[in-house]
Amino acid sequence: MSGSSPTVANGQWRGLIEEYRDLIDLLPDDLEAVTLREGGTPLVHSEWLSSLTGGQVWLKVEGNNPTGSFKDRGMTTAMSLAKYEGAQAVVCASTGNTSASMAAYAAKAGLKPLVLVPEGKIAAGKMAQAVVHGAQIIMVRGNFDHCLTMAKELASNYPVALVNSVNPARLQGQKTAAFEICDFLGDAPDYHLLPVGNAGNISAYWMGYVQYAALGRSSRRPVMRGFQADGAAPLVTGVPFPDPETKATAIRIGNPASWQLAVAAASESGGRFAALSDPQILAAQVELAKHDGVFVEPASAAGIAGLLSELAAGESYAGKTVAITVTGHGLKDTATALESFSDIVDTVVDADVDAAAAAAGLI
Ligand SMILES: *Cc1c(COP(=O)(O)O)cnc(C)c1O
Repeated sequence: MSGSSPTVANGQWRGLIEEYRDLIDLLPDDLEAVTLREGGTPLVHSEWLSSLTGGQVWLKVEGNNPTGSFKDRGMTTAMSLAKYEGAQAVVCASTGNTSASMAAYAAKAGLKPLVLVPEGKIAAGKMAQAVVHGAQIIMVRGNFDHCLTMAKELASNYPVALVNSVNPARLQGQKTAAFEICDFLGDAPDYHLLPVGNAGNISAYWMGYVQYAALGRSSRRPVMRGFQADGAAPLVTGVPFPDPETKATAIRIGNPASWQLAVAAASESGGRFAALSDPQILAAQVELAKHDGVFVEPASAAGIAGLLSELAAGESYAGKTVAITVTGHGLKDTATALESFSDIVDTVVDADVDAAAAAAGLI
Protein backbone atom coordinates (compact mmCIF):
# COMPACT_ATOMS: atom_id res chain seq x y z
CA MET A 1 0.00 0.00 0.00
CA SER A 2 1.22 3.49 -0.86
CA GLY A 3 0.54 6.82 0.80
CA SER A 4 0.88 7.83 4.39
CA SER A 5 -1.03 5.01 6.13
CA PRO A 6 1.24 2.62 7.95
CA THR A 7 0.84 -0.97 6.78
CA VAL A 8 1.85 -2.68 10.00
CA ALA A 9 -1.12 -4.42 11.58
CA ASN A 10 0.57 -6.68 14.16
CA GLY A 11 -2.21 -9.22 13.83
CA GLN A 12 -5.01 -6.67 14.16
CA TRP A 13 -7.86 -6.67 11.66
CA ARG A 14 -6.91 -4.23 8.89
CA GLY A 15 -10.37 -3.35 7.60
CA LEU A 16 -12.30 -5.32 5.03
CA ILE A 17 -10.67 -3.91 1.89
CA GLU A 18 -7.19 -5.01 2.96
CA GLU A 19 -8.47 -8.32 4.35
CA TYR A 20 -10.45 -9.33 1.23
CA ARG A 21 -9.07 -7.11 -1.53
CA ASP A 22 -8.69 -9.91 -4.13
CA LEU A 23 -12.34 -10.90 -3.73
CA ILE A 24 -13.87 -7.40 -3.98
CA ASP A 25 -14.74 -6.24 -7.51
CA LEU A 26 -14.62 -2.64 -8.77
CA LEU A 27 -11.51 -1.63 -6.80
CA PRO A 28 -8.56 -0.39 -8.89
CA ASP A 29 -5.21 -1.98 -7.91
CA ASP A 30 -3.78 1.34 -6.74
CA LEU A 31 -6.86 2.34 -4.74
CA GLU A 32 -6.02 3.45 -1.23
CA ALA A 33 -8.59 2.37 1.34
CA VAL A 34 -10.51 4.96 3.32
CA THR A 35 -10.98 2.80 6.39
CA LEU A 36 -11.93 2.90 10.05
CA ARG A 37 -11.08 -0.82 10.24
CA GLU A 38 -14.66 -1.91 9.73
CA GLY A 39 -15.67 -5.57 9.44
CA GLY A 40 -14.14 -8.40 11.43
CA THR A 41 -17.23 -8.28 13.63
CA PRO A 42 -17.92 -11.03 16.18
CA LEU A 43 -20.00 -14.09 15.39
CA VAL A 44 -21.54 -14.70 18.81
CA HIS A 45 -23.05 -18.07 19.69
CA SER A 46 -26.59 -17.78 21.05
CA GLU A 47 -27.18 -20.39 23.74
CA TRP A 48 -30.75 -19.13 24.04
CA LEU A 49 -31.72 -19.55 20.40
CA SER A 50 -29.65 -22.72 19.98
CA SER A 51 -31.55 -24.40 22.78
CA LEU A 52 -34.91 -23.15 21.44
CA THR A 53 -34.19 -24.53 17.97
CA GLY A 54 -32.10 -27.59 18.75
CA GLY A 55 -29.62 -26.20 16.23
CA GLN A 56 -26.59 -23.92 16.38
CA VAL A 57 -27.57 -20.26 16.14
CA TRP A 58 -24.92 -17.60 15.61
CA LEU A 59 -25.37 -13.83 15.75
CA LYS A 60 -23.34 -11.68 13.34
CA VAL A 61 -23.08 -8.60 15.53
CA GLU A 62 -22.78 -5.74 13.08
CA GLY A 63 -23.29 -3.09 15.75
CA ASN A 64 -19.61 -3.66 16.50
CA ASN A 65 -18.62 -1.78 13.35
CA PRO A 66 -16.98 1.66 13.80
CA THR A 67 -20.20 3.68 13.51
CA GLY A 68 -22.41 0.96 15.00
CA SER A 69 -24.02 -0.63 11.95
CA PHE A 70 -23.17 -2.81 8.94
CA LYS A 71 -23.37 0.30 6.74
CA ASP A 72 -19.63 0.82 7.35
CA ARG A 73 -18.85 -2.22 5.19
CA GLY A 74 -20.26 -0.61 2.08
CA MET A 75 -19.06 2.83 3.05
CA THR A 76 -15.36 1.96 3.09
CA THR A 77 -15.59 0.72 -0.51
CA ALA A 78 -17.91 3.49 -1.77
CA MET A 79 -15.94 6.27 -0.07
CA SER A 80 -12.57 4.90 -1.17
CA LEU A 81 -13.77 4.88 -4.78
CA ALA A 82 -15.38 8.33 -4.54
CA LYS A 83 -12.09 9.75 -3.27
CA TYR A 84 -10.07 7.85 -5.87
CA GLU A 85 -12.28 9.25 -8.64
CA GLY A 86 -11.80 12.81 -7.39
CA ALA A 87 -15.20 13.53 -5.82
CA GLN A 88 -15.34 16.61 -3.60
CA ALA A 89 -18.69 15.84 -1.98
CA VAL A 90 -20.82 12.78 -1.25
CA VAL A 91 -24.59 12.50 -0.83
CA CYS A 92 -26.96 9.89 0.58
CA ALA A 93 -30.59 9.44 1.52
CA SER A 94 -30.87 7.80 4.89
CA THR A 95 -33.11 6.43 7.60
CA GLY A 96 -30.13 7.25 9.86
CA ASN A 97 -27.36 4.68 9.73
CA THR A 98 -26.19 5.37 6.20
CA SER A 99 -25.82 9.06 7.03
CA ALA A 100 -23.97 8.29 10.27
CA SER A 101 -21.57 6.04 8.39
CA MET A 102 -21.17 8.34 5.40
CA ALA A 103 -20.44 11.33 7.63
CA ALA A 104 -17.68 9.44 9.48
CA TYR A 105 -16.04 8.06 6.33
CA ALA A 106 -16.34 11.42 4.55
CA ALA A 107 -14.54 13.01 7.49
CA LYS A 108 -11.79 10.39 7.19
CA ALA A 109 -11.57 10.94 3.42
CA GLY A 110 -11.71 14.74 3.60
CA LEU A 111 -14.88 14.97 1.51
CA LYS A 112 -17.99 17.04 2.18
CA PRO A 113 -20.98 14.95 3.36
CA LEU A 114 -24.52 15.92 2.36
CA VAL A 115 -27.39 14.01 4.00
CA LEU A 116 -31.08 13.84 2.99
CA VAL A 117 -33.27 12.53 5.81
CA PRO A 118 -37.05 12.08 6.07
CA GLU A 119 -38.71 14.59 8.38
CA GLY A 120 -38.96 13.60 12.03
CA LYS A 121 -38.09 9.92 11.67
CA ILE A 122 -34.41 9.68 12.53
CA ALA A 123 -33.28 8.12 15.82
CA ALA A 124 -31.40 10.62 17.97
CA GLY A 125 -28.15 8.63 18.16
CA LYS A 126 -27.86 8.38 14.39
CA MET A 127 -28.64 12.05 13.88
CA ALA A 128 -26.01 12.96 16.49
CA GLN A 129 -23.40 10.96 14.60
CA ALA A 130 -24.09 12.71 11.29
CA VAL A 131 -24.07 16.15 12.94
CA VAL A 132 -20.93 15.60 15.01
CA HIS A 133 -18.98 14.18 12.05
CA GLY A 134 -19.80 17.39 10.18
CA ALA A 135 -22.51 16.45 7.69
CA GLN A 136 -24.78 19.05 6.20
CA ILE A 137 -28.28 17.80 7.07
CA ILE A 138 -31.18 18.48 4.72
CA MET A 139 -34.51 17.33 6.12
CA VAL A 140 -37.10 16.45 3.50
CA ARG A 141 -40.87 16.73 3.97
CA GLY A 142 -41.36 13.17 2.74
CA ASN A 143 -40.25 9.61 3.43
CA PHE A 144 -37.04 7.69 2.71
CA ASP A 145 -38.14 6.79 -0.79
CA HIS A 146 -38.55 10.50 -1.66
CA CYS A 147 -35.10 11.20 -0.21
CA LEU A 148 -33.49 8.49 -2.33
CA THR A 149 -35.05 9.82 -5.52
CA MET A 150 -33.70 13.30 -4.69
CA ALA A 151 -30.22 11.97 -3.83
CA LYS A 152 -30.02 10.14 -7.17
CA GLU A 153 -31.04 13.29 -9.05
CA LEU A 154 -28.57 15.45 -7.13
CA ALA A 155 -25.80 13.02 -8.04
CA SER A 156 -26.72 12.93 -11.71
CA ASN A 157 -27.04 16.73 -12.06
CA TYR A 158 -24.33 18.04 -9.72
CA PRO A 159 -20.72 17.15 -8.84
CA VAL A 160 -21.51 14.92 -5.86
CA ALA A 161 -21.03 11.14 -5.57
CA LEU A 162 -24.01 9.01 -4.50
CA VAL A 163 -23.15 6.48 -1.77
CA ASN A 164 -26.53 4.81 -1.24
CA SER A 165 -26.62 1.06 -1.84
CA VAL A 166 -27.64 1.67 -5.47
CA ASN A 167 -23.91 2.46 -5.78
CA PRO A 168 -22.54 -1.01 -6.68
CA ALA A 169 -19.42 -0.48 -4.55
CA ARG A 170 -21.65 -0.62 -1.45
CA LEU A 171 -22.79 -4.21 -2.00
CA GLN A 172 -19.22 -5.22 -2.87
CA GLY A 173 -18.12 -4.14 0.59
CA GLN A 174 -21.17 -5.53 2.35
CA LYS A 175 -20.76 -9.02 0.86
CA THR A 176 -17.62 -9.52 2.98
CA ALA A 177 -19.83 -10.26 5.99
CA ALA A 178 -20.73 -13.56 4.28
CA PHE A 179 -17.02 -14.29 3.78
CA GLU A 180 -16.35 -13.68 7.47
CA ILE A 181 -19.15 -16.04 8.53
CA CYS A 182 -17.83 -18.84 6.28
CA ASP A 183 -14.25 -18.25 7.43
CA PHE A 184 -15.32 -18.41 11.06
CA LEU A 185 -17.63 -21.45 10.82
CA GLY A 186 -15.44 -23.30 8.31
CA ASP A 187 -18.39 -23.44 5.91
CA ALA A 188 -21.57 -21.52 5.05
CA PRO A 189 -24.50 -21.92 7.48
CA ASP A 190 -27.63 -23.85 6.47
CA TYR A 191 -29.80 -20.77 6.94
CA HIS A 192 -29.18 -17.04 7.03
CA LEU A 193 -31.83 -14.74 8.52
CA LEU A 194 -31.74 -10.94 8.47
CA PRO A 195 -33.83 -7.75 8.47
CA VAL A 196 -34.70 -6.28 5.07
CA GLY A 197 -35.39 -2.63 4.29
CA ASN A 198 -33.88 -1.23 1.11
CA ALA A 199 -32.78 -4.84 0.46
CA GLY A 200 -29.12 -4.15 -0.28
CA ASN A 201 -27.83 -6.28 2.58
CA ILE A 202 -29.65 -9.51 1.74
CA SER A 203 -28.49 -9.07 -1.86
CA ALA A 204 -24.89 -8.51 -0.75
CA TYR A 205 -24.84 -11.54 1.57
CA TRP A 206 -26.16 -13.73 -1.22
CA MET A 207 -23.50 -12.37 -3.59
CA GLY A 208 -20.82 -13.20 -1.01
CA TYR A 209 -22.11 -16.70 -0.32
CA VAL A 210 -22.41 -17.49 -4.05
CA GLN A 211 -18.87 -16.23 -4.66
CA TYR A 212 -17.37 -18.27 -1.81
CA ALA A 213 -19.11 -21.45 -2.95
CA ALA A 214 -17.96 -20.87 -6.54
CA LEU A 215 -14.38 -20.48 -5.30
CA GLY A 216 -14.64 -23.72 -3.32
CA ARG A 217 -14.15 -21.87 -0.03
CA SER A 218 -17.50 -23.20 1.18
CA SER A 219 -19.36 -26.37 0.30
CA ARG A 220 -22.90 -24.95 0.27
CA ARG A 221 -25.01 -21.82 0.10
CA PRO A 222 -27.50 -20.98 2.82
CA VAL A 223 -31.24 -20.60 2.52
CA MET A 224 -31.86 -16.83 2.79
CA ARG A 225 -34.82 -15.61 4.85
CA GLY A 226 -35.54 -11.88 4.95
CA PHE A 227 -37.77 -10.18 7.52
CA GLN A 228 -39.66 -6.92 7.18
CA ALA A 229 -42.09 -4.98 9.38
CA ASP A 230 -45.84 -5.37 8.77
CA GLY A 231 -46.11 -1.66 7.98
CA ALA A 232 -43.27 -1.76 5.43
CA ALA A 233 -43.42 -5.18 3.80
CA PRO A 234 -43.32 -4.71 0.01
CA LEU A 235 -41.26 -7.86 -0.55
CA VAL A 236 -43.91 -9.89 1.26
CA THR A 237 -46.94 -8.39 -0.48
CA GLY A 238 -45.25 -7.81 -3.83
CA VAL A 239 -46.32 -4.17 -4.07
CA PRO A 240 -44.65 -0.94 -2.86
CA PHE A 241 -45.90 0.68 0.35
CA PRO A 242 -46.50 4.40 -0.38
CA ASP A 243 -46.55 5.31 3.32
CA PRO A 244 -44.32 2.80 5.15
CA GLU A 245 -44.73 2.88 8.93
CA THR A 246 -42.84 1.04 11.68
CA LYS A 247 -40.95 1.81 14.86
CA ALA A 248 -38.08 -0.14 13.32
CA THR A 249 -37.02 3.00 11.42
CA ALA A 250 -34.02 1.42 9.69
CA ILE A 251 -36.39 -0.81 7.71
CA ARG A 252 -39.12 1.79 7.21
CA ILE A 253 -38.82 1.61 3.42
CA GLY A 254 -41.71 1.17 1.01
CA ASN A 255 -39.98 0.64 -2.32
CA PRO A 256 -36.61 -1.11 -1.90
CA ALA A 257 -33.86 -0.10 -4.34
CA SER A 258 -32.52 -3.67 -4.53
CA TRP A 259 -35.95 -5.26 -4.96
CA GLN A 260 -35.01 -7.52 -7.91
CA LEU A 261 -31.68 -8.65 -6.41
CA ALA A 262 -33.38 -9.49 -3.13
CA VAL A 263 -36.13 -11.49 -4.82
CA ALA A 264 -33.44 -13.38 -6.74
CA ALA A 265 -31.52 -14.09 -3.50
CA ALA A 266 -34.63 -15.52 -1.87
CA SER A 267 -35.68 -17.63 -4.83
CA GLU A 268 -32.24 -18.92 -5.85
CA SER A 269 -31.54 -19.95 -2.25
CA GLY A 270 -34.93 -21.56 -1.66
CA GLY A 271 -35.72 -18.82 0.85
CA ARG A 272 -38.50 -16.31 1.37
CA PHE A 273 -39.67 -13.09 2.99
CA ALA A 274 -42.00 -12.67 5.95
CA ALA A 275 -43.24 -9.76 8.03
CA LEU A 276 -43.46 -9.14 11.77
CA SER A 277 -45.53 -6.74 13.83
CA ASP A 278 -43.79 -3.93 15.71
CA PRO A 279 -44.64 -5.57 19.07
CA GLN A 280 -42.98 -8.81 17.88
CA ILE A 281 -39.87 -6.90 16.79
CA LEU A 282 -39.61 -4.86 19.99
CA ALA A 283 -40.18 -7.95 22.17
CA ALA A 284 -37.40 -9.78 20.31
CA GLN A 285 -35.08 -6.81 20.89
CA VAL A 286 -35.62 -7.04 24.65
CA GLU A 287 -35.44 -10.85 24.77
CA LEU A 288 -32.15 -10.86 22.87
CA ALA A 289 -30.65 -8.28 25.21
CA LYS A 290 -31.76 -10.22 28.29
CA HIS A 291 -30.75 -13.71 27.12
CA ASP A 292 -27.62 -13.10 25.08
CA GLY A 293 -26.24 -9.78 26.28
CA VAL A 294 -26.52 -8.29 22.81
CA PHE A 295 -28.31 -4.92 22.60
CA VAL A 296 -29.47 -4.09 19.08
CA GLU A 297 -31.65 -1.38 17.60
CA PRO A 298 -35.29 -2.26 16.84
CA ALA A 299 -34.86 -3.03 13.11
CA SER A 300 -31.91 -5.26 13.93
CA ALA A 301 -34.13 -7.57 15.93
CA ALA A 302 -36.34 -8.42 12.94
CA GLY A 303 -34.32 -11.56 12.14
CA ILE A 304 -34.64 -12.73 15.76
CA ALA A 305 -38.37 -12.01 15.76
CA GLY A 306 -38.57 -13.89 12.48
CA LEU A 307 -36.92 -16.99 13.92
CA LEU A 308 -39.18 -16.91 16.99
CA SER A 309 -42.33 -16.56 14.90
CA GLU A 310 -41.30 -19.38 12.57
CA LEU A 311 -40.65 -21.65 15.56
CA ALA A 312 -44.08 -20.74 16.93
CA ALA A 313 -45.59 -21.68 13.56
CA GLY A 314 -43.95 -25.11 13.73
CA GLU A 315 -40.94 -24.55 11.49
CA SER A 316 -37.90 -26.65 12.47
CA TYR A 317 -34.25 -25.63 12.55
CA ALA A 318 -33.22 -28.71 14.55
CA GLY A 319 -29.69 -29.84 13.80
CA LYS A 320 -29.09 -26.87 11.51
CA THR A 321 -26.54 -24.07 11.59
CA VAL A 322 -28.26 -20.70 11.48
CA ALA A 323 -26.63 -17.27 11.10
CA ILE A 324 -28.68 -14.21 12.01
CA THR A 325 -27.40 -10.74 11.24
CA VAL A 326 -28.17 -8.20 13.93
CA THR A 327 -27.56 -5.10 11.88
CA GLY A 328 -27.02 -2.17 14.26
CA HIS A 329 -26.27 -1.18 17.85
CA GLY A 330 -28.95 -0.65 20.49
CA LEU A 331 -27.47 2.67 21.61
CA LYS A 332 -28.52 4.20 18.29
CA ASP A 333 -32.13 4.50 19.45
CA THR A 334 -32.51 4.33 23.22
CA ALA A 335 -35.86 6.15 23.18
CA THR A 336 -37.65 3.35 21.33
CA ALA A 337 -35.89 0.68 23.42
CA LEU A 338 -37.10 2.24 26.66
CA GLU A 339 -40.71 2.42 25.41
CA SER A 340 -40.85 -1.32 26.18
CA PHE A 341 -40.44 -0.56 29.90
CA SER A 342 -43.07 1.11 32.05
CA ASP A 343 -40.61 1.71 34.90
CA ILE A 344 -36.95 2.48 34.39
CA VAL A 345 -36.13 2.81 38.08
CA ASP A 346 -37.37 -0.11 40.19
CA THR A 347 -37.02 1.34 43.68
CA VAL A 348 -35.81 4.55 45.34
CA VAL A 349 -34.09 4.18 48.72
CA ASP A 350 -32.12 6.32 51.17
CA ALA A 351 -28.31 6.17 51.01
CA ASP A 352 -28.26 3.12 53.25
CA VAL A 353 -26.91 -0.34 52.42
CA ASP A 354 -29.58 -2.20 54.35
CA ALA A 355 -32.28 -0.37 52.45
CA ALA A 356 -30.66 -1.42 49.14
CA ALA A 357 -30.30 -5.02 50.37
CA ALA A 358 -33.94 -5.09 51.44
CA ALA A 359 -35.08 -3.63 48.12
CA ALA A 360 -33.04 -6.32 46.31
CA GLY A 361 -34.68 -9.06 48.37
CA LEU A 362 -31.32 -10.04 49.93
CA ILE A 363 -32.60 -9.74 53.50
C1 LIG B 1 -29.81 -0.27 6.71
C2 LIG B 1 -30.27 -1.09 7.81
C3 LIG B 1 -31.13 -2.19 7.64
C4 LIG B 1 -31.70 -2.56 6.32
O1 LIG B 1 -30.73 -3.01 5.40
P1 LIG B 1 -31.07 -2.98 3.84
O2 LIG B 1 -29.78 -3.24 3.17
O3 LIG B 1 -31.57 -1.58 3.58
O4 LIG B 1 -32.12 -3.99 3.60
C5 LIG B 1 -31.46 -2.95 8.74
N1 LIG B 1 -31.01 -2.64 9.96
C6 LIG B 1 -30.19 -1.60 10.17
C7 LIG B 1 -29.73 -1.32 11.56
C8 LIG B 1 -29.80 -0.79 9.11
O5 LIG B 1 -29.00 0.25 9.35
